[in-house]
Amino acid sequence: MDVQAPLLPDTGEPGFGVYIHWPFCAAKCPYCDFNSHVRHVAVDQEAFVEGFLKEMTAMRAISGARTVTSIFMGGGTPSLMKPQTVDAILSGIARHWHVPNGIEITMEANPSSVEAERFRGYRAAGVNRVSLGVQALNDRDLRFLGRLHNVEDALKAVRLARDIFPRMSFDLIYARPGQQEDEWVRELNQAISYAVDHLSLYQLTIEEGTPFYGLHRNGKIVLPSQEESARLYEITQDATSAAGMPAYEVSNHAVPGAESRHNLTYWRYGDYAGIGPGAHGRLTSGGRKYATATERNPEAWLAAVQAQGHGMIDNESLEREEQADEMLLMGLRLREGIDLVRWNALSGRQLDIEKEEFLIGHGFLERLGNSRIRCTPQGMLILDAVVADLAS
Ligand code: SF4
Repeated sequence: MDVQAPLLPDTGEPGFGVYIHWPFCAAKCPYCDFNSHVRHVAVDQEAFVEGFLKEMTAMRAISGARTVTSIFMGGGTPSLMKPQTVDAILSGIARHWHVPNGIEITMEANPSSVEAERFRGYRAAGVNRVSLGVQALNDRDLRFLGRLHNVEDALKAVRLARDIFPRMSFDLIYARPGQQEDEWVRELNQAISYAVDHLSLYQLTIEEGTPFYGLHRNGKIVLPSQEESARLYEITQDATSAAGMPAYEVSNHAVPGAESRHNLTYWRYGDYAGIGPGAHGRLTSGGRKYATATERNPEAWLAAVQAQGHGMIDNESLEREEQADEMLLMGLRLREGIDLVRWNALSGRQLDIEKEEFLIGHGFLERLGNSRIRCTPQGMLILDAVVADLAS
């Protein structure tokens, strides 16, 4: 793999991605429902690499020979991995599938687990894009979110990432309790001034099973009202568009051409191999699309892989209607919308014309020429309802 090769441009195709899940974090954030675990003893990274390689073999048997268009290492906190671990994973992927030079290889990193030397090691291993979990640019809210870093650490990590990687993005969470419009405008503008070509801007959501869930139910956490959240969303759209980084997905903003190639594969309903504890995948084999899912507990996953060569607990063939609904759910998140020719071929039917006309008439949906459909900005605000209306 030529790690210095210039990044390949997006072809507009769904593509084939490989996702690796590193399931460990230094601490559990109180809002997080991802498959992330804290361990107070050192994780045996070599054993997990072996597990990843074995599971790749099992996924390769389902997917067959494919050309990889992106690799994403998410978590958890993948930046807790040693550069040698990352190198071994990337080399393994290249032994299982065809990996052209210059594909997007992203790694998530937390500002608290960043060291320059490790960043250089990841870059040397082939990582060419980093996505930093900054989450807030004020120390009070970082403490509220349970983050281990402060603003100074975050900005240091952003500067370092900008120096080392050809592409980088960072995440912020907004619509936090008590967040005022003017505070968010200031924070967002500061973020934009540090961004290179991509920002992920998510509204805080309360997920069942998290500490925030109980606090929210007891009234100890009060989120902004729907109107306030909608206003913060509008401010976000306006500021990022004015800065030349418009939304290309509900929460993701990029300079045109710098969209996350890997996430586009999910949203365009392409195939991806999901490897590691709690990873999900979509793989086409023999004309059928399979939804794979693996055991979530890291040690149980590793034991399963050692015993049977993979940690899959699900490998279910999806019906056409299920695939069509999934494609709607993912594709309507995108500014580019959905290719209706592909959707019709997948579902074996046309969209319900009455429902479509109703949504278009109320300004929630729009046609792009004859063959594409997308949500309007108003439709994005009620995306779940739009999808539910159009789905089978
Ligand atoms: S660092 Fe990320 S994955 Fe880990 S607990 Fe916090 S939000 Fe979840």
